[in-house]
Amino acid sequence: MTRSRDALVADFPGLTRDRKYGEGNYEGQRFIVIDTGGLTGDEVGLDAEMARQSMQAVEEADIVLFLVDGRAGLTAGDEMIADHLRRSGKQAHLVVNKTDGQDPDVAAADFYSLGFDSTYLIAASHNRGIRSMLEELLPNPEEGEEDSAERYPGIRIGVVGRPNVGKSTLVNRMLGEDRVVVYDMPGTTRDSVYIPYERQGTQYTLIDTAGVRRRKNVRETVEKFSIIKTLQAIDDAHVVILVIDAREGLVDQDLHLIGFVLDAGRSLVIAVNKWDGMDPEERSRVKEQVRRRLDFLDYADKHYISALHGSGVGVMYESVEACYESAMAKWPTNRLTAILQDAVVQHQPPMVHGRRIKLRYAHQGGSNPPVIVVHGNQTEALPGAYKRYLENTFRKILKVNGSPIRFEFRSSE
Ligand code: GDP
Repeated sequence: MTRSRDALVADFPGLTRDRKYGEGNYEGQRFIVIDTGGLTGDEVGLDAEMARQSMQAVEEADIVLFLVDGRAGLTAGDEMIADHLRRSGKQAHLVVNKTDGQDPDVAAADFYSLGFDSTYLIAASHNRGIRSMLEELLPNPEEGEEDSAERYPGIRIGVVGRPNVGKSTLVNRMLGEDRVVVYDMPGTTRDSVYIPYERQGTQYTLIDTAGVRRRKNVRETVEKFSIIKTLQAIDDAHVVILVIDAREGLVDQDLHLIGFVLDAGRSLVIAVNKWDGMDPEERSRVKEQVRRRLDFLDYADKHYISALHGSGVGVMYESVEACYESAMAKWPTNRLTAILQDAVVQHQPPMVHGRRIKLRYAHQGGSNPPVIVVHGNQTEALPGAYKRYLENTFRKILKVNGSPIRFEFRSSE
């Protein structure tokens, strides 16, 4: 469904054990697939943990595919799971796999007693039946639905991070900074809360994945962390503030989240939170760790803040503005072409099969993230190092701050 062996974008050990998230695209319809460890229907011990994870995935999902093994036939476990799914009230479909090499109808016959309204017969490893299944499952894109985030005014800031890093404290602090005008909230999308507000004459919408405003009481502070929610917030944002807990330092899950942001092409501000009350030694240790592990992100601003006390929060808006300007910038073709040609004069691309790779002109192909389309010959042979050189050159001259730049190369032969 994700058309890739390793489209599984992340594996969150501990946090979402046995749940993996991948992004798919069927004819322009984008979707997220959650792959789970599996259920036996009769769970004890390790299986019970796996079942809990699977049921959490069910809870997060809009559509549930109950995959059964067409070779193994119906088991008692299948019946228990089917029963459970029915009670969950989710839109669930039966998918019979491994129907290759046998009469699909015979393979499926066993399972009809489970009582699902719709059944799909597939052979996943042969890529059979997948497209027609997606065709039927995915809702037809409605006019304007694609950019529902556009309804929210101004600069959309997604605040994301692991549980307890201080997201909700930061959201409250950002709203409390100076005098903000919070508009009536026109409802919520999914579980994140979209909060439009104005600060010093500029409009913003905070996308709050921690769901602060919904918490009815303090006891509710342990939020269910949802990767789907995080992925959607990132997608809807112009600028993402990734919150890290300085007391714990940079952990693998933070890096996964950064990976999501970069994959989505969003611009990024790093907020290292809980900086208050840390002794100088600890501070320099954390700074060193951030410098070392995030050296590939040298174009993103890092702020050391205390969401609790507010220090460092106000100046983050400067980074947010810079990110937004970079993400949405428009550059004329002649400017991009001039930069490209200068870069090529400075450093010739290599020869391939006795002919030099030619890069002729460049134009902009999109915003948020900015896309630069480069036209030439044999561009498919362009080495990674040369692409990085181009990116660095464009980044420096165009002053692209905080945002990734995407390059597309087109060959005319
Ligand atoms: P979330 O789950 O990411 O939304 O995290 P919360 O905002 O609920 O914060 C988790 C805990 O960290 C709470 O007890 C906060 O009071 C605390 N916290 C948040 N920001 C700071 C900070 O800047 N300094 C300190 N010392 N504690 C903080």
